[in-house]
Amino acid sequence: MTKTMQPSLPQPSSTLSLWHRTTRSFPHLHANRLAPVPASTKYLIIGSGISGVLTAWKLVESGVNAEDVLIIEAREAVSGASGRNAGHIRPDSFRGFPGYAKFHGPEQARKILENERVVLENVRKFVKEHKIDCDFNYMRTFEVALTDEVVDSLSKSMAAFKAAGGDVSHVKYYEGEAAKKETRVPEALCAYESPAASNHPGKLVQWILNDFIVKGGKLWTHCPVTKMDRFRSDNSPSLRWEVHTPRGVIATETVVHCTNAYAAYLLPELGKFITPRRSQVNSFVPPLSLSGEDSLKHTMALRYRADHFFSVNALNNGMVVLGGTGTRSSSDMTSEDLITFDDSKYSDRLAHNSTKEFLGLCHEPDSASLRHGEGLDHAWTGIIGMTADGAPLVGPIEGLDGQWICAGFNGHGMAGIFTCAPGLAKLISDLSWQDTGLPECFQFSTERIRRSTNQRVKSTL
Ligand SMILES: Cc1cc2nc3c(=O)[nH]c(=O)nc-3n(C[C@H](O)[C@H](O)[C@H](O)COP(=O)(O)OP(=O)(O)OC[C@H]3O[C@@H](n4cnc5c(N)ncnc54)[C@H](O)[C@@H]3O)c2cc1C
Repeated sequence: MTKTMQPSLPQPSSTLSLWHRTTRSFPHLHANRLAPVPASTKYLIIGSGISGVLTAWKLVESGVNAEDVLIIEAREAVSGASGRNAGHIRPDSFRGFPGYAKFHGPEQARKILENERVVLENVRKFVKEHKIDCDFNYMRTFEVALTDEVVDSLSKSMAAFKAAGGDVSHVKYYEGEAAKKETRVPEALCAYESPAASNHPGKLVQWILNDFIVKGGKLWTHCPVTKMDRFRSDNSPSLRWEVHTPRGVIATETVVHCTNAYAAYLLPELGKFITPRRSQVNSFVPPLSLSGEDSLKHTMALRYRADHFFSVNALNNGMVVLGGTGTRSSSDMTSEDLITFDDSKYSDRLAHNSTKEFLGLCHEPDSASLRHGEGLDHAWTGIIGMTADGAPLVGPIEGLDGQWICAGFNGHGMAGIFTCAPGLAKLISDLSWQDTGLPECFQFSTERIRRSTNQRVKSTL
């Protein structure tokens, strides 16, 4: 049974990620930090992660007056998972199919994976069209099997996905020596290659946020929303909600919850549906063997078991970023300890485990052989919003007219939100679900939450 947490607001003293540490001069980082909130706004978006910021941007693109849109953020701008992830936009080509199919059926499972491919292409086009300086690099990624168990499960997932009509024409397969050579992982038993991207997620989201503000949009940071009530006044029939913050109350027509792991604080009915889970990422400066011409030019997931893996991201500047799940056997914490809203801590043991993987990629015997400045650079954590059925929640919130949600991205938001947030903006603008092109199983419904809460999907990210 998964531990249930009391809902929480984002906690104040979170770790700074590599992305945060390299963008401290972003001018809107602490926008309106001490100012009282506006008395009213037409659209109020809670959360300045990629969900909130892109929903706001897309609303403005569709014709909404930017001055009518206010983003409220509990901490500094982009301080949630969007500013502290592993920088990977890595569509799942087939691996997660059986898990999704168990919950949502084969057709929806296929659509979930197809959606991730669309997201990668959408981000690629968006970055190119707007010439965004966010270290975006379209490259190859590999699912690397390091045990027979993983060889077997990947092959079964691929077969099941194909049987459901899934397209794998973009996936290349290597085994034995070819897998070792392509991936540069000496222990690789087999590997599946597909397209992905590396990027600086902080710079990407900050660009969108800045563009929204330049167009007239508003941002209030360090300003948690603590409560919501129905607005009662005969003078302003269009205003529906009173949104409470420590710096005043905002009356609004439309509330959009882009609060990911924290959604249940304002929507208690999600308390058992969205579970917070801390995840750790570590950045590394490569030594000679993995730098210069030999720097890593592809990304990977190194899989030991379904629930034990390391994600490996290769940045444009040659640095390597490793994330992982941190299961009971691989960390100094039990998996129960990882169910938390606390992103102020990181684990030395997880950093050590990632260092071992990194040294394996460099073929270095141990950290002692590295120069000062090489090896582990930084470790940070963030909170993932895990949903009971493995799919995000998008759409209108039943029973709360004028309230909408885009949340619960299960550690895969960079591969999901670039269709979900634009889809939500369409729904808010009165278009239909069909117009969003999203899998139907993403749609918010009370019935979905009730049904899923007692049979959680097992996460393998
Ligand atoms: C360590 C880590 C590594 C990851 N690696 C990857 C990866 O490599 N690839 C990938 O695809 N995905 C990855 N993810 C997942 C991805 O980062 C998320 O799915 C995505 O960023 C979610 O975006 P979001 O905007 O929905 O949520 P967030 O970015 O979490 O934004 C939610 C915002 O809401 C604010 N907020 C919450 N409650 C309130 C409130 N009451 N009042 C005001 N503000 C509030 C929060 O402070 C936060 O800024 C990772 C996540 C983590 C934590």
